[in-house]
Amino acid sequence: MTDRTAEQLRAQAAAHSAHNYHPLPVVIAEAEGAWVTDVGGRRYLDMLAAYSAINFGHRHPRLVAAAQRQLERVTLVSRAFEHDQFGPFCAELAALAGMDMVLPMNTGAEAVETAIKTARKWGYEVKGVPDGEAVIIVFDGNFHGRTTTIISFSTDPDARASYGPYTPGFRIVPYGDLDALRAAMDPNVVAVLVEPIQGEAGVIVPPPGFLAGVREACAEAGALMIADEIQSGLGRTGTTFACEHDDVVPDMYVLGKALGGGIVPISAVVSSSDILGVFKPGQHGSTFGGNPLACAVAREVIAMLNTGEFQERSAKLGTHMLDRLAALPTAAVREVRGRGLWAGIEFARLNGREACERLAERGVLAKDTHGATIRLAPPLMISEHDLDWALDQVEDISLAR
Ligand code: PLP
Repeated sequence: MTDRTAEQLRAQAAAHSAHNYHPLPVVIAEAEGAWVTDVGGRRYLDMLAAYSAINFGHRHPRLVAAAQRQLERVTLVSRAFEHDQFGPFCAELAALAGMDMVLPMNTGAEAVETAIKTARKWGYEVKGVPDGEAVIIVFDGNFHGRTTTIISFSTDPDARASYGPYTPGFRIVPYGDLDALRAAMDPNVVAVLVEPIQGEAGVIVPPPGFLAGVREACAEAGALMIADEIQSGLGRTGTTFACEHDDVVPDMYVLGKALGGGIVPISAVVSSSDILGVFKPGQHGSTFGGNPLACAVAREVIAMLNTGEFQERSAKLGTHMLDRLAALPTAAVREVRGRGLWAGIEFARLNGREACERLAERGVLAKDTHGATIRLAPPLMISEHDLDWALDQVEDISLAR
């Protein structure tokens, strides 16, 4: 197919879809591993991996085989009935996280909503907070999804403006500031919701000891520590969970994205039975949550993570990537942040969108965040050769006048 086909498809999308995204002008038709191919047959290296949802690469053969096996058996029953993938999925995910219980949903935002509901219910029924007075502490620059409640505590005007009235019950403190967190604690605080590394904000790694401090502050105040590992978890930073870098175990993990292997949406809250035990039949749910197809794919994802191979690759290649980026002259790259195969790069001479357009022209797909920052989050199975080639392109565009 030709560029004309791409133009027609882009025009069709522009005419008939809401303009809530501003995609790069690349129309993808096929993908395999770390590479995608557009409708004109041109190949691009995917250095975004659907914001970590494609951690294992596009159409990983083990994941495609798991999906195909399940497509031939049963795909959806609703939670009105049991099915044979559900118990094993919950047990295997709980074991991966070192917890006892799982509550599955579909998208990341739904899992965050579930964590918020869990914390409030636990606060009223277990901690004894007066009805309607529960507070959840969140951080400046957070990104936890797009529902009305979640954007109520966003500090990004684009995400929040014109969607009021906003949901009350959230207190925002500066990310990385433990004194501010401690000052915001009071007996009505039921939870602290934290991204171990802030992804959407531009891959912001908090100061050393911050997560351990959050853990301690929560324990002292009798509040739950909720780690939103939707983007940072499942191998992205070189460990299964980003909290592991700080030797921290939260009370609740919120997972999504890579859990579905890039094939199906599946998300989950993973916690202890004391906490998730607050739910009784009828009090929360989702038609598609924990469906057989999603559970079968997620079980294969968990089995792949249990080998440790992807975490190891992410740590090794991530160190290589971050070392190479850190060696770029400050006249070209103002700052590089990251952990594992996850980097935020702030260019000195380009804005983020411009940088991504130039990279796309060279066959590399990446995504800008705020201002001059772009994010790199390649599939964890990327070869060192492909990674180096992509970094050559980043280096070239950063130095170009
Ligand atoms: N939480 C974090 C940390 C995220 O990065 C995202 C998505 O980027 C979400 C929640 C929301 O996930 P979803 O887009 O699947 O609703």
